Amino acid sequence: MIKTDAVIIGAGPVGLFAVFELGILGLNAHVVDNLDKAGGQCIELYPDKPIYDIPALPICTGESLTKNLLEQIKPFKTTFHLNQRVDSITKKDKHWIVETSDKTVFETPNIIIAGGVGSFEPRKPPIKGIERFEQHNLFYSVKNKKNFDNQKVCIFGGGDSALDWVIELSKTAKKIFLVHRRDEFRAAQHTVNQMMKLKDEAKIELYTNYQPKNFAGEAKIEKVIIENNKKEIKELEVDSVLAFFGLKMELGPIVNWGLNLDNKTIIVNTENFETNEKGIFAVGDICTYPGKLKLILCGFHEAALAAQECFKRAKPDEKYIFRFTTSSSDIHKRLGIK
Ligand SMILES: Cc1cc2nc3c(=O)[nH]c(=O)nc-3n(C[C@H](O)[C@H](O)[C@H](O)COP(=O)(O)OP(=O)(O)OC[C@H]3O[C@@H](n4cnc5c(N)ncnc54)[C@H](O)[C@@H]3O)c2cc1C
Repeated sequence: MIKTDAVIIGAGPVGLFAVFELGILGLNAHVVDNLDKAGGQCIELYPDKPIYDIPALPICTGESLTKNLLEQIKPFKTTFHLNQRVDSITKKDKHWIVETSDKTVFETPNIIIAGGVGSFEPRKPPIKGIERFEQHNLFYSVKNKKNFDNQKVCIFGGGDSALDWVIELSKTAKKIFLVHRRDEFRAAQHTVNQMMKLKDEAKIELYTNYQPKNFAGEAKIEKVIIENNKKEIKELEVDSVLAFFGLKMELGPIVNWGLNLDNKTIIVNTENFETNEKGIFAVGDICTYPGKLKLILCGFHEAALAAQECFKRAKPDEKYIFRFTTSSSDIHKRLGIK
């Protein structure tokens, strides 16, 4: 049984920043994530993509943001429990008992749920036996864009992820095919315009109203067979396939924890981001309240406020005093600043 001031469920950007906000108040935390690494959506879905709306960082990527967040919490020597899902939460007096899929057990006064969209899984094309290609050249996200240099890449989808990668990879790939089941796109208009310009300049091939019918090849996909609404078939020779059919949002075990939910998100009060259960907080994409925006910067604010309440629960005999990081010697000590 690990005793700690707080358990953070989710090592996405908001969970990582929650570690910092707790740390400067002198609280320790253990972080659990069912992925194999920290970073949440930033690392899993768009590590190479530029982000422009992190305050005071004109540009960063999903990966560099995660690296910086990890660097910022280094002084706290936080323990991460990766590849483990938090399965159950039970009450013990004023504390909570948290248990993971690997049977790690924590006792804590505070749980911060920073679970994003829950355990997320990519939606896969409805083609039998495609799992065999997933180890080779069928992907649902881009981990390293260099892997597609000089390749013939078939990209499925009509949303931001698909179109952003069409634009980005068209700079270095040998050929890009974009296949979408409609002739309207769900991406931002300027992204659609950029993609159409590439098509007009014959830098990409666009197939609208087409869907994947089959993938041909033994271990690797060699040909993608697509079919349109009129049952016309086309065969595309490819080196790699990227399928962006969206994610399945699965809250997983969180639905069983007795928390008030609204459309797969957890209802919180905006004073301290506590849920209907005392000592259980929800921050980042997983929480909801009037006016909620699913932005990283909003999650950072939510984590800061939740941490104040965690302090009061973890150290009921100590007086909470608000302090700036610029001038607090206590905070400097905790950050290892001399
Ligand atoms: C393509 C794309 C581009 C984006 N661009 C921007 C942008 O420019 N600016 C911006 O502000 N936002 C952007 N976002 C949104 C941003 O990524 C999210 O708001 C942010 O990741 C939310 O962070 P989070 O920490 O709340 O959750 P997440 O990043 O989703 O992390 C949640 C983590 O919790 C884990 N988890 C869930 N349930 C459990 C459980 N039971 N046990 C253990 N672990 C669990 C998951 O594995 C996951 O790692 C973008 C999103 C996408 C998809």
